[in-house]
Amino acid sequence: MDKRKRIVAGNWKMNKTPAEASAFIKALKPMIKFSRTEVVCAVPFVAIQTAVTASRGSRIKIAAQNMYFEEKGAYTGEVSGPMLRDLGVKYVIVGHSERREYFGETDEIVNKKVHAVYKYDMRPIVCVGETLAQRDAGLTAEHIRYQVKAALVGLTAEQVKKLVIAYEPIWAIGTGRTATAEQAEEVCRIIRMTVKELYGKRISSVVRIQYGGSVKAENAAELFGMDDIDGGLVGGASLKLDEFAAITSC
Ligand code: PEP
Repeated sequence: MDKRKRIVAGNWKMNKTPAEASAFIKALKPMIKFSRTEVVCAVPFVAIQTAVTASRGSRIKIAAQNMYFEEKGAYTGEVSGPMLRDLGVKYVIVGHSERREYFGETDEIVNKKVHAVYKYDMRPIVCVGETLAQRDAGLTAEHIRYQVKAALVGLTAEQVKKLVIAYEPIWAIGTGRTATAEQAEEVCRIIRMTVKELYGKRISSVVRIQYGGSVKAENAAELFGMDDIDGGLVGGASLKLDEFAAITSC
């Protein structure tokens, strides 16, 4: 039986000021009151404080979109785990393809960040995904298995149980081109099987796996209805109140 709680996380990227974040979250609160899905908003660093305040009294959890793995020190411009935890952050997105592509995040850095997120009592949402060239070359499964294994190096079974993995095919992010539910399920299944190989069936059956890539209200129900898809990581559509609320109630 499927006991995994569905999780929908909005990745706002570099959008919304603190005031806009507060207004959005206050407006979202009554709209998700009856949703059984876990609802997360990953807001820009500077909006975290107002977002956490605005979310009080609701089940909305606030996430960060990134975090540095060191605790403190001479790392100009970086933000650490204790800083985020202190603000009330519950989840941290790690290894988004935009960070891998524009900010040089390697699999090793992603793994260090995952460890740091757990160290400070938050939960990582680890992103993996293939490029169109990799898909066309038939390398999707190999690449995804490699990224998952690299992200999980050194984690305990207890940590992996709390993990969220987001499968985000790079060719579907912000392009309007969604993977079909079958394509998404096929890769999410590969992710679960990879976790099973490493940690066994019990752990792999509780890890939550999201699909991300042009998720909208109109395609969310079909995607989230697949066996190994436990929700979504939503970019563009998470900035629109009605659309995001509709996705959380799919
Ligand atoms: C994302 O960036 O995590 C994402 C899935 O974006 P979009 O929904 O806009 O494709």
